[in-house]
Amino acid sequence: MTGPVFRYALALGGNRRTRYGGPRATLAAACAALSAAGIAIDRMSPMFATPAMGPAGRGFANAAILVSTPLLPEQLLALLKRIEQDFGRRRGRRWGPRPLDLDILLWSGGAWPPAPRRAAAGRLQVPHAGLAARRFVLDPLVRIAPRWALPATRRTIAQLHARAKG
Ligand code: AMP
Repeated sequence: MTGPVFRYALALGGNRRTRYGGPRATLAAACAALSAAGIAIDRMSPMFATPAMGPAGRGFANAAILVSTPLLPEQLLALLKRIEQDFGRRRGRRWGPRPLDLDILLWSGGAWPPAPRRAAAGRLQVPHAGLAARRFVLDPLVRIAPRWALPATRRTIAQLHARAKG
């Protein structure tokens, strides 16, 4: 018997060298780690170079991917955190150097936690709270999921991208 398979849009970012190389090589290695963990990668955006925000120092590489998996959002987040740690991520300064940042942007199941619950501070929230405001997320995402609509507003990624400021 097989259960449901969900689709997710994920954001990948990094701005440090890792044992895999520079930020772009690191994001490619992160995709390989996801595949090795049984996550099917259906589409990948081009990689974008993003100037550093705040004190992080170095520019970021950013990309977005569409994946399929039976994992529920909390289970997928746990896997993403394990991979981040394996790539040398340390928790701490918000805009500090990041070998690898993996975020859940969208889920085919709609919102997490399911409405009318709202995420407690610091807990998983899907769609990602920063999605509509961040060009470095929307630029890659619009290349692979322009027609995906947010559950609450029904606005598509293409619409959010057109409204986002440079
Ligand atoms: P950061 O890796 O610093 O971007 O933040 C990670 C924390 O943000 C995690 O502990 C998550 O619980 C929380 N979080 C909330 N929403 C999300 C999301 N959509 N994707 C990833 N992490 C999230």
